[in-house]
Amino acid sequence: MQGVLSREIKYVGGVGEARARALEREAGVRTIGDLLMRFPFRYIDRTRQMNIGEVDESMESTYIQLRCRIVGRQIVGDGARQRFVVEAQDATGSVELLWFQGIKWIEKRVEMGREYIVFGRPSFYRGRMSIVHPELETVEQALSRKQESGFQGIYPSTEKLSQAIPIKLMHTIVQNAWQIALTDTSAFADPLPEPLRRRCGLISLREAIYNIHFPQSSELLRQAQYRLKFDELLGVQLTIQARRTQRHTSNNGFLFPRVGDNFNTFFRTKMPFALTGAQQRVIKEIRSDMVSGKQMNRLLQGDVGSGKTMVAFMTMLLAVDNGYQACVMAPTEILARQHYASMSRFAEGLNLKVAILTGSSKTKERRASLEGIASGEIDILVGTHSLIEDSVQFNNLGYVVIDEQHRFGVEQRAKLWTKNLQPPHILVMTATPIPRTLAMTLYGDLEVSVIDELPPGRQPIRTYHYYDSARLKMFGFLRQEIAKGRQVYIVYPLIKESEKMDYKDLEDGYESISRDFPLPQYRIAICHGKMKPEDKDASMAQFKRGEADILIATSVIEVGVDVPNATVMVIESAERFGLSQLHQLRGRVGRGGEQSYCILMSGDKLSKEGRARLEAMCATNDGFKLSELDLKLRGAGDIHGTQQSGEAFELNIANLATDTQIMQLTRDEALAILALDPKLERQENAPLRALRDRHHKRERIDFSDIS
Ligand code: ADP
Ligand code: MG
Repeated sequence: MQGVLSREIKYVGGVGEARARALEREAGVRTIGDLLMRFPFRYIDRTRQMNIGEVDESMESTYIQLRCRIVGRQIVGDGARQRFVVEAQDATGSVELLWFQGIKWIEKRVEMGREYIVFGRPSFYRGRMSIVHPELETVEQALSRKQESGFQGIYPSTEKLSQAIPIKLMHTIVQNAWQIALTDTSAFADPLPEPLRRRCGLISLREAIYNIHFPQSSELLRQAQYRLKFDELLGVQLTIQARRTQRHTSNNGFLFPRVGDNFNTFFRTKMPFALTGAQQRVIKEIRSDMVSGKQMNRLLQGDVGSGKTMVAFMTMLLAVDNGYQACVMAPTEILARQHYASMSRFAEGLNLKVAILTGSSKTKERRASLEGIASGEIDILVGTHSLIEDSVQFNNLGYVVIDEQHRFGVEQRAKLWTKNLQPPHILVMTATPIPRTLAMTLYGDLEVSVIDELPPGRQPIRTYHYYDSARLKMFGFLRQEIAKGRQVYIVYPLIKESEKMDYKDLEDGYESISRDFPLPQYRIAICHGKMKPEDKDASMAQFKRGEADILIATSVIEVGVDVPNATVMVIESAERFGLSQLHQLRGRVGRGGEQSYCILMSGDKLSKEGRARLEAMCATNDGFKLSELDLKLRGAGDIHGTQQSGEAFELNIANLATDTQIMQLTRDEALAILALDPKLERQENAPLRALRDRHHKRERIDFSDIS
């Protein structure tokens, strides 16, 4: 940004050195432009006052405004524990106002018997409402405050930042910054051509920036949000659509034209079950990519237990039958070993060689694998992220399958397909489905396949939520199931040792199970992340062979593990897990023909969100529904975090999950623009180029850039 927008923030009235440092450290804001491009995430209507009696616990932590009279005030405690406690009331009730800091200053300003407008976030303790560090204004002040509209923006903040800059001061600072921006006519010059703006009914960028900070009416606020979202999503679409076109016009995909002996023999004589319709369809989709001459980049979404492994295996046979190597990369040792076991079994009697390579492969196993891969003697390699080490050199890698992709970092994935001069076909499999529009955006130009059908004969898992106080009932239920010869998982949240929270840690869990579960004859296996890989494997194998009734584990077993005789999944401290993780864990049961159960244990005190998650789990088994709900609960923010996304767009205001209509519109506009100027090279498109590049501030890698 040029001109006044690139001026340092510390010179803006109300900021200064210390606050500028806080802004930079806590919010990455260095310039006036940075500040003005940081939008409120919520607005409160300051013309609206509530009665104390109307405020209840559901409003905890949201901003409210009260009008009440001071009826008591005192300084309590001393030294560091000193606080200023004020009692205020209106006709409907009373509230406690608390200050721990700046006591001297505020104490002088609070007068007994006087009426104030109180603004802040309530909290409740034993039904009693209090507000810590509220803002106070006398009624006269509030009335004289010149305010065109009642809306006040709430900016994202951190504890440190809100200490350095309370909400009202932030508002003043933004106002001052805006005044400075106004002095430069080129600041926020509109990047969108007039005809496009008219066609799409957009207000100007300047108007939008002004109204996003200081909404003059609710209608203008809506239009401002719309305009700013439009800009962001247009930038995103200009990137994606350009890339898509480019990939579709280059012919660098391996060709696998033959359906050969291995595939046919397996399909006709070895397959342990008939494929579901969805599995067949997806195999066809993959096959048509493999004969298209284009390199495949496909995301396979299929709920837990939908049979993705078989799809992976059969499509790997296509690669092998055409003389290429294939590999499958799994996120954990356990899962890699399991894939290796099942793929070796599938491959019996076929003319191909399967090998494994993981971090814990012994020197001998390792050397044999490495040699076989380099010579081409090994056709299918199964492994963990060890596959991406430099020592692993394929002879002719044609196809890469990545299982449970959300566990891999973007960079790790990228490394795997730079192993060839010509990029291999790529299938990314996930059991954490995301809505299609979101997938398209997050994963750039990935094609998406969906397995939307479970193998026949599965009974829906029944899910129940118990509070810790009903623990004995849960044990009773486990006893019944084990008596029927079934097996049980008990999963604890994985904790970092440093976190001193009341998570139930596995060791405690183990102790309490052995203590409370009054039947010591049960055979218990344990599996957690800190164990040596051999020990983990040994425990898992023991459980898999039916030699343990109960497997106590941390979430290391979250993905992929397949033990059909296990019918109960108990998740301890379930409120600590995210929805998709809960769903993954639940997917460990219900894999055989027996009725299976998932029991969610939680503490008595649940947050609103925690409760919503547990209720959703009890209400549905549908992974798609859950992931949509998850998006709503968490916002797309988390989902396009580094960890999970293939593509990293930094969005400020648009929401990939919910702004689908604008996404569609910007997609069409982007295509129209690119049709005339594919690389945005024309002079008049320079502002659009800037718009496109703005969301790639941080250097990140994504699939389609690599391949
Ligand atoms: P996921 O999609 O979660 O990776 P898996 O591939 O592990 O699921 O398959 C889950 C279970 O379903 C496995 O035991 C597998 O053998 C079985 N399975 C897969 N496809 C079918 C099918 N078409 N008919 C019957 N069972 C199947
Ligand atoms: Mg799987």
